[in-house]
Amino acid sequence: MKVAFPLMGHLHIGLEACFDVLETNYHINKPITKKTLVLGTKHSPEFACLPFKINLGNFIEALEEGADTLIFAGGFGPCRFGYYGQTQFLILKNLGYEFNCLIVEMVEKKQRDLLDKFKLISNSKNILQVLYAIHFGYSKLSLIDRAEQKALYYRPRELTRGTTCNILEEVIAKVKSANSYRDIKKLNGEVERWFKGIEINKTKKPIKIGLVGEIYSLLEPRINQNLEKKLGCLGAELVKSIYISQWIKEKVFLDALGFTNTNNLKNHASPYITREIGGHCLENVSKANMFVNAGCKGIIHLAPLTCMPEIVAKGILNKSTEDQNIPFISLFIDEQTGEAGLQTRLEAFVDLLESSLP
Ligand code: SF4
Repeated sequence: MKVAFPLMGHLHIGLEACFDVLETNYHINKPITKKTLVLGTKHSPEFACLPFKINLGNFIEALEEGADTLIFAGGFGPCRFGYYGQTQFLILKNLGYEFNCLIVEMVEKKQRDLLDKFKLISNSKNILQVLYAIHFGYSKLSLIDRAEQKALYYRPRELTRGTTCNILEEVIAKVKSANSYRDIKKLNGEVERWFKGIEINKTKKPIKIGLVGEIYSLLEPRINQNLEKKLGCLGAELVKSIYISQWIKEKVFLDALGFTNTNNLKNHASPYITREIGGHCLENVSKANMFVNAGCKGIIHLAPLTCMPEIVAKGILNKSTEDQNIPFISLFIDEQTGEAGLQTRLEAFVDLLESSLP
């Protein structure tokens, strides 16, 4: 058995760590390239959103390179994600590929399914070993997310351009090569020290911008074209609505124990939206309001073209930010999105925010 899974930001680092502990044979994905996107787009329905096309491209490349078992997350609700796994597997079967598929349901109260699926690919490891594997993978993701969060603070303040990005890359490489939970704990302290060593302009008060949007666009730098880095280099400090470790904690672990964050999100999103409509719509409206209350001077919304929940979110965010007199920009991305156009729009947005400061 050779397992393959789609790429999304640093998620693969956590999954690979997990599979290493379980001694599961897995396919090492190549980074997403133009070829991945071309392959995925060619075989996807025209209306599919960008993450679908890239995931499909990932799977085709993995199958061509010898993977024989594909893992994908399931879902529910009005967002199309709920049937992505099945649709992609059907397309691949019609293309003539032969493989086994595992759809891990993320539906509330079905996290037992997650453990069962892990057991299927875990070489008969016992439950404690499976739990350690999940914990180890999660710890890696959590440390990378903390480093990314620090990078958002240091990038606009650094005195030597590029220092923060270099440190972040080093952290990611070290976390990736860590062999045990003890290594991760040791790295925790070191990461703190490395970032504190960055020379910064201590008096600078960068403009704060809240970043909300769809998970894949927010987490995958090849899709958002390194938007975090671009904004940091423009001197803006970002506050981001989604990190992969936080998402796993809330949607996989806490949901399983019956602790959902939905009521809190509804409170902050009210009166603009009062219920879940799928995807991250409720969360984005809610977090945008929280970011404004916490001092953000602008909101950026990022989503793949044709993403239904984010089309609704855009309409609501237009209204909620207008009511609070906060500049707002919504960026919908697809395979045609050019880097120069994105850079220009970000520069114009940061200029606008800086010129409106008292
Ligand atoms: S949230 Fe949007 S981009 Fe993500 S799967 Fe659903 S429709 Fe597609």
